[in-house]
Amino acid sequence: MSGYVYDFVEGNKDLKDLLGGKGANLAEMTRMGLPVPPGFTVTTEACREYLRTGTVPEGMFAEVEQHLRLMQTRIGKRLGNPGDPLLLSVRSGGKFSMPGMMETILDIGLSDASVVGLARQSRDERFAWDSYRRLIQMFGKTVFDVPGEDFETELAHARAAAGVATDAELTATQLQDLVHAYKKVFHAHTGRDFPQAPHEQLFLAITSVFTSWNAERAVLYRRQERIPQDLGTAVNVMAMVFGNRGADSGTGVAFTRNPATGRRGVYGDYLTNAQGEDVVAGIRNTVGLQELATIDPGSYRQLLSIMERLEQRYRDLCDIEFTVENGKLWMLQTRVGKRTAAAAFVIAAQLVDEGTITLDEALQRVTGEQLAQLMFPSFDTAAAPAPLASGVPASPGAAVGAVVFDSAAAAAATGPVILVRRETNPDDLPGMIAAQGILTSRGGKTSHAAVVARGMGKTCVCGAEQLEIGEDSFTVGGRIVHAGEVISVDGTTGRVYAGAIAVRPSPVVRYFEGELTAHGDPLLSAVERLMIHAGHRARLGVHANADNGPDAARARRFGATGVGLCRTEHMFLGDRRVLVERLILADDDAGRSAALAQLLPLQRADFEELFAAMDGLPVTVRLIDPPLHEFLPSLEELTARVARAEALGEDPGRDATLLTAVRRMHEQNPMLGLRGVRLGLVVPGLFAMQVRAIAEAAAARVAAGGDPRPEIMVPLVGAVQELETVRAEAESVLAGVPGAPPIRIGTMIEVPRAALTAGQIAAAAEFFSFGTNDLTQMTWGFSRDDVEGAFFGRYLGLGIFAVSPFETIDVEGVGELVRIAVERGRATRPDLTVGVCGEHGGDPTSVRFFHDAGLDYVSCSPFRVPIARLEAGRAAATASVSDSR
Ligand code: PEP
Ligand code: MG
Repeated sequence: MSGYVYDFVEGNKDLKDLLGGKGANLAEMTRMGLPVPPGFTVTTEACREYLRTGTVPEGMFAEVEQHLRLMQTRIGKRLGNPGDPLLLSVRSGGKFSMPGMMETILDIGLSDASVVGLARQSRDERFAWDSYRRLIQMFGKTVFDVPGEDFETELAHARAAAGVATDAELTATQLQDLVHAYKKVFHAHTGRDFPQAPHEQLFLAITSVFTSWNAERAVLYRRQERIPQDLGTAVNVMAMVFGNRGADSGTGVAFTRNPATGRRGVYGDYLTNAQGEDVVAGIRNTVGLQELATIDPGSYRQLLSIMERLEQRYRDLCDIEFTVENGKLWMLQTRVGKRTAAAAFVIAAQLVDEGTITLDEALQRVTGEQLAQLMFPSFDTAAAPAPLASGVPASPGAAVGAVVFDSAAAAAATGPVILVRRETNPDDLPGMIAAQGILTSRGGKTSHAAVVARGMGKTCVCGAEQLEIGEDSFTVGGRIVHAGEVISVDGTTGRVYAGAIAVRPSPVVRYFEGELTAHGDPLLSAVERLMIHAGHRARLGVHANADNGPDAARARRFGATGVGLCRTEHMFLGDRRVLVERLILADDDAGRSAALAQLLPLQRADFEELFAAMDGLPVTVRLIDPPLHEFLPSLEELTARVARAEALGEDPGRDATLLTAVRRMHEQNPMLGLRGVRLGLVVPGLFAMQVRAIAEAAAARVAAGGDPRPEIMVPLVGAVQELETVRAEAESVLAGVPGAPPIRIGTMIEVPRAALTAGQIAAAAEFFSFGTNDLTQMTWGFSRDDVEGAFFGRYLGLGIFAVSPFETIDVEGVGELVRIAVERGRATRPDLTVGVCGEHGGDPTSVRFFHDAGLDYVSCSPFRVPIARLEAGRAAATASVSDSR
């Protein structure tokens, strides 16, 4: 086997790293004996070397020549043969699919000489000249950066001169003139003639596909999809087959199941007398694949049988690109197909039912992100007016936003927008990322807009043909909608409404809430089945961050098995704020005690409600954390009020006292100031009051026949001595409350020093809970409140982060502190319970890390509880499954 080039007969589907997804799957189909045009793949390794050094690896082109010779022998045609030329397609194909982001060049091998041969051999002069002009156009744009508009302008001239509306009406002679004009455009931009040597065309095409790996839109797409930037692309060189050879030719896209709903059946688009790119680009409207049964029954039957074999081989939904050339079917591509979140669940469950995969495998076919998407609300169509228009429901969801007509406007917008385009192309990617939803007037379910939106989980309606889209407005049924007007786009039904339509909760949420049963509903049944299996598999528990009874009750309905974080400072806001103010301003013990005595019963009632909602399950109550000045009026406001009073010769009264206190407490860096345990140690009686409230609430619940399981958690500890001091005080308070159950005392680990000294801290803590919000902030040394807007965009752009470390745990830095703390903590106290309650507790990727790090549970917002439960099951089941699709 060669080094840099693999013939299709040499590879297989498991070689995606080396051959890219497309190359590996073409090889697999070739092995299966399916009708794949002969070809070969230049490896990703060759691409990586080219991108690293700027030159192709030594011997690579010699290998290409060698494989080309083999191919020519097999086909009986030769590249560049003026009498009967072999023509080639050159296509990119990385390990992960990146629809339309990199380059493709078709019809390599045509020249002034061979175009005549092609015309003669195909007995179709028009077809030959059309192919040649397509080559010059694609090659010029891709290899030499000739502006595409210059070719488009010539094409428009040709149409105008011929007095026709479409390219298809241009005659052979007119196309020949167009080739002449295209060559001039080429020369004007490159200073050279269009290359006539077919081997030079081929080599230039291969290297330009390599280069297209680093095209701006490709880099952006990878960042968005979290695809590593250093993989490189393979290049697939394949004998051309033509779907534009007349009425018995065509091209199409097929799915083995419906990628939007998961339903079984034949699903796809077909376009007679067209090249493959025409379908994906959504430029012409297609017909449903079923119509191929009438157009060409033989090819249709063969396609259906191939689809079945592919499903069996890949054990999953496959998508397929095919071409029919003069009645002969050719397979140009297959891969495990992208699908909506709903389809992912439904298909995974179907494949279990069909005996194709195990439940463990089914868990790997869905993700927490997909479940999150299913929990989005949808439109309340009962209350909606008549739709403005309707199109193809390409990617579900309910999007409301102001209309924008180009990608730049979408990217620059500050509020939610809907990107409205005739059709999208890869250059629209930034706008598609920024928009809430995408609406196009052309193209089907497999158009660029549809495929990319589904991949992103973004709402999309495409092919809304009633829309007449102009520069800064669109017209529909006599009504004009201008840029900036709000519309609502329903990706589930395909309907588009004027104005903002009310939204209603998702059925999946209603199922979790217990308002709907799964019975009889394919999606809910699939979700139920996979959630149950995840529950059987999971080792990590899932708790919720909840500060009140209703939140805790909802979390419990969603499957939380405890409260992992109750932030008590949330209980001091509103009309209780004055009590805190009084506590802070008290200048003697009596004043302080009076304020605390007023707070105690309020706190006790809060905890009673929480313990009742989580009866029988642990509730971790964190003692108050934020800086005290947050409970006082702002320094600026007070200063102004006092100054005004003084200027008017009035007595500022209480404002003057407040101002002194606020000045005393003012901090330059409050996040690094008097907060957490430090506050508890400085304000006498504050923590003791909270501990008493917890114990008394628990005692009251016990007296009422309940089973309260409170735990006390101390925030922001950095040294074991801090914890020991608080612990001693808490224990003495607890000892004085009769009737309370045993209450464990633990600490948050959110200061790097705590992680490093976890061995000492564990001696005074029965449990740890990682506060990864603060731990991230303090490990990186940047403020969680300030930096996301200030420079994260730039950092993401520069590739310093692949994703915000406040969203997904930074495994190498913060994660290392987590591992250290777990190891050192458990060395001191083997039965130490360890959890996490920062935002990362509900992030799918982070949940996987916490599983690996040996944590006992994650705690997250109630809404994310199902997502964390699913991910906990997936993390545990991974070991038993190797994915070789
Ligand atoms: C944390 O720091 O991760 C945490 C849970 O505490 P808070 O977000 O309240 O600071
Ligand atoms: Mg914190």
